[in-house]
Amino acid sequence: MFKGILIEKDEAGYRAAVRDIDDAQLPEGDVTVRVSHSTLNYKDGLAITGKGPVVRKFPMVPGVDLVGTVEASSHSAYKPGDSVVLNGWGVGEVHWGGLAQKARLNGEWLVPLPAQFTPQQAMAIGTAGYTAMLCVLALERHGVTPDKGEILVTGAAGGVGSVAVSVLSKLGYTVVGVSGRPEESDYVKSLGASEVLDRSLFSSAGKPLGRERWAGAVDVVGSHTLANVCATTSYRGVVTACGLAGGMDFPSSVAPFILRGVTLAGVDSVMCPRSDRLVAWQRLGQDLDLAKLGLITNEIGLGEAIAVASQLLEGKVRGRVVVDVNR
Ligand code: NDP
Repeated sequence: MFKGILIEKDEAGYRAAVRDIDDAQLPEGDVTVRVSHSTLNYKDGLAITGKGPVVRKFPMVPGVDLVGTVEASSHSAYKPGDSVVLNGWGVGEVHWGGLAQKARLNGEWLVPLPAQFTPQQAMAIGTAGYTAMLCVLALERHGVTPDKGEILVTGAAGGVGSVAVSVLSKLGYTVVGVSGRPEESDYVKSLGASEVLDRSLFSSAGKPLGRERWAGAVDVVGSHTLANVCATTSYRGVVTACGLAGGMDFPSSVAPFILRGVTLAGVDSVMCPRSDRLVAWQRLGQDLDLAKLGLITNEIGLGEAIAVASQLLEGKVRGRVVVDVNR
């Protein structure tokens, strides 16, 4: 038996609770992992609370991220004792995930724990941090260099935002954060932002084009915010879109794209090919200041994860939440 969060949906409704689960209930997979830590991402918040259609199979163990030690493996790349990390691939959505003491997975989904990180640090990064790095890599791929101008990061006090601000500032970019929490301004500045703007400047319907300011952007919010970010991005600037914390719609016009040559680059972490993941993790090892990662991170036990999931969706959680599944 092992402990895990189990989400059930039946006549009694949608509910999540910590339960004792029999090993025999673990899903198919060629690698069994003794999980040490998981995390809470926005998507895990949606899954645990049922506020978004994330879970597509019941019962489900949530948790899109995990780190742990291989207990058994019939996959040629992994043997018992190896430290591994998993992010995405539908885990916590259609395949049992990381918010449990044990997981059985497809070995193709795993990456070795990068030597630079402890298991806790790998989960402090988690899907949110690895997605932030995918956004940075997309900015670079489209030619955005620090000399081009300011980079805007929305949802700056959240998980993706905190890591994006930290990495971009270490790389020498001038970073401007956007946050709805004035009390977190000093925190966002301590991660490297030169300025923090209020969320309300971006959150309602704006003009098709505004004053050109941003050489690049990392947007986790979507909706009017993404439209306004595109409208104020400079000629040939690049906007990376990875989130929907403010809404899934995109009420924009083509003006920024056809008149200013703005590029809108979509970023997905879930099905991202393994080769790109390995690059992202390697770059995190190089370009993320571990002292800042410490500022970003809070750790909780498995029993606290259900309550904190609701707080996360309410925008009350700062940075990243690591879950010690054995406490
Ligand atoms: P967090 O909850 O940690 O951060 C989201 C932040 O967005 C909040 O802290 C808040 O920042 C801001 N925010 C929340 N609600 C609103 C709102 N209504 N309007 C404007 N801003 C808002 O989540 P994550 O960082 O884990 O994820 C951020 C987004 O990125 C989510 O939508 C998530 O689904 C998406 N995501 C996508 C991935 C992909 O593969 N494409 C992977 C990982 C995440 P502040 O208080 O500073 O304003």
